Amino acid sequence: MKKTIDVQAAVALAAGEAIAARAQGSFGVGGVLLDQYGNVLKTLQNNVVKGGLVFDPTAHGERQLIDWYFAERAKGRMLPAPHDVTLVTSLDPCAMCGGAILAAGFNVVIAANDPKAGINHDETATFGALPQDLRQAAAASFCYPAVLGSSAYAREGSGAAPKSFFIGKTIAEPTLALCSLLIEATTEKVQAFLHSDAAQGELQDPATLAPSHPLLRKLKSLYPHALAYRGAPHAPDVGLAPFLLAAMEQDRRQGGDGDCAALLDGFGNLLLCVPGRRAQSAICTAFMECTRQYAQLRYQLIAGAGADAGMRDTVRRYLAHPKEGTFVFARGPGACAESFMDLGAYGSTMEGPLPANNPHQFQYVLPRVEESQLHALCEAMPPLYRDTIRIRPVQVGDDALIAALA
Ligand SMILES: [Zn+2]
Repeated sequence: MKKTIDVQAAVALAAGEAIAARAQGSFGVGGVLLDQYGNVLKTLQNNVVKGGLVFDPTAHGERQLIDWYFAERAKGRMLPAPHDVTLVTSLDPCAMCGGAILAAGFNVVIAANDPKAGINHDETATFGALPQDLRQAAAASFCYPAVLGSSAYAREGSGAAPKSFFIGKTIAEPTLALCSLLIEATTEKVQAFLHSDAAQGELQDPATLAPSHPLLRKLKSLYPHALAYRGAPHAPDVGLAPFLLAAMEQDRRQGGDGDCAALLDGFGNLLLCVPGRRAQSAICTAFMECTRQYAQLRYQLIAGAGADAGMRDTVRRYLAHPKEGTFVFARGPGACAESFMDLGAYGSTMEGPLPANNPHQFQYVLPRVEESQLHALCEAMPPLYRDTIRIRPVQVGDDALIAALA
């Protein structure tokens, strides 16, 4: 088959998706997936916010396109191998999407820069934000095409060369400006919206609700052992071990390496404990599943059939933003692409600084790497993660819990 598309045309399609995302009240970002001839496989917009509610903090265009690809393949559709697929995105991938692209093995063409959260935030295409072992892979697969012109949006090409199927290999200045303005016009508004959760003083303990309450019924239909464990706030202990061990076993059965992620609320209640689905998709890690399931639980309770203003208020108070609780990973992050994606997805879940009384929101039981190495990885991340959210995973304090999983 012949060459079928210009870089400019593909970026314009991604920009169209970004416009749709903005109209929906979400981050103004979009993307396109192309096969090895430049044919469009799929286009998608950012879906973090939908219908005036947080739908899914991981629903960035790139992440959704990658999961779409693996879901289609799982259904039996013939699609090119990942290294023959090119993702075109209106904005430099964040840490989550950058890790996901590397884990999946796709090529990527990038329009606008993102100095806060972009994997190429310093615009050097050296990828110092990534763990050392991933930088070469990024340099070989992340393409920043030249933008011709004389305004601030003009640039030289950098990173990987555009694939040979592209006829024109540059981006027009006004299209690049549009991609850039769409994220600038939406970031503050969406972030403010993401921080409109209930204050700590308003939060209430879901364990005090009647077992027949719709909120608890929905929570337990998602995770039957919800509220079956309760520890001291922000201090998980050995009582959590059976739930983690069961999910770790399930993770292995579903193609993972025995990881899982639990979410405890600010009262110490176990809400979810989730394995990954790596056999389904290279990027369905336990944490990605966990944060998504919790966000969608809240979304469905508020937006679902029969929900009213009373339910909205109940969800706000009894199922707080995860930043008030504790994520417990069975296995801590390492230096691989999937771990980097998880760190990024954690950042996208928090979106802003942690509450002052909860600096250890992110805990793990078994380390993959030394804590000092993990902290060095976090320190190298783009400014949003390093300076604003200050991601700082720590090992759980209870030795008995560590021994139970070791
Ligand atoms: Zn992203």
